[in-house]
Amino acid sequence: MKDKKIQDIARKLLKEKKVDVVIGFEKGTLPSCVAPCFIKSPDQADRLIWNSFCGNNLANYLPKRKDKIGIVAKGCDSRSIVVLIQENQIKREQLYIIGIPCEGMTDKNNVLHDYCLICEHKNPVIYDVLVGEKVKENKKKDKYKEVEKFEKKSSSDKWQYLELELSKCIRCNACRNACPTCYCKECFIDQEKPRWVGTTNNLSDIIFFHLGRIFHQAGRCTDCGACVRACPMNIDLRQFTQKITKDGEALFDYETGLDIEIKPPFTTFKEDDSQDFIK
Ligand code: SF4
Ligand code: SF4
Ligand code: SF4
Repeated sequence: MKDKKIQDIARKLLKEKKVDVVIGFEKGTLPSCVAPCFIKSPDQADRLIWNSFCGNNLANYLPKRKDKIGIVAKGCDSRSIVVLIQENQIKREQLYIIGIPCEGMTDKNNVLHDYCLICEHKNPVIYDVLVGEKVKENKKKDKYKEVEKFEKKSSSDKWQYLELELSKCIRCNACRNACPTCYCKECFIDQEKPRWVGTTNNLSDIIFFHLGRIFHQAGRCTDCGACVRACPMNIDLRQFTQKITKDGEALFDYETGLDIEIKPPFTTFKEDDSQDFIK
């Protein structure tokens, strides 16, 4: 049982004072619901569980922490951890990563989430201990099927789709708050001096917020689905982040969060880059 193994690892780490806290999942208040938890003493380790509802990306709790942390991480979480290390939000030596090969996460009706169906990195890409055997990885030929359909639309149809989808947004910011790579101390949408974007739910303010958020995800989104799950209005945010990810792969030959030693595309340049963008 994975629960028992995770509990044993956490207990040992805390007993030997190798970490100050273990971040994992515990039982939620409803049957198909789990909650992130912070285990700080060995006698609390029994609270840790693992099942197909452990979808939250726990990397969200890492930025700017100074303590030593044990963290439960499936494939997508581990890739977000890599991004956070690349971006100096956490140090590798602060972390003890309890990697979990992932069979995919489900909704409350036990249906696999869309992003799990096309996931190519179910096994953690970085870990200190692995709980269970690695699962088989597959290259998904049609992982950008929906984006390709979107790309075929005319510019005005694309804009219409964007307006229609985003007009449902109530500006609750849950998508931003659930995302491990939205960690700025002060988000550009909250900034008052200067005020970049209005706080209203006027469509132009909404679109400005989303375009900013989407572009900030270039080369950083791991398609973990946390933003989509958090959205109370069921907005298809992945349609936009996947487009950015697809372009990043095609233009920079870069896949997010696979190696802490590789520099992400927007933090570096190649001398033979075509530089068409400044023509
Ligand atoms: S995207 Fe889904 S299948 Fe892939 S690691 Fe994350 S939860 Fe697991
Ligand atoms: S934008 Fe959404 S899918 Fe991408 S990393 Fe953030 S929460 Fe995950
Ligand atoms: S979670 Fe949904 S409703 Fe809330 S700000 Fe994000 S897109 Fe809008």
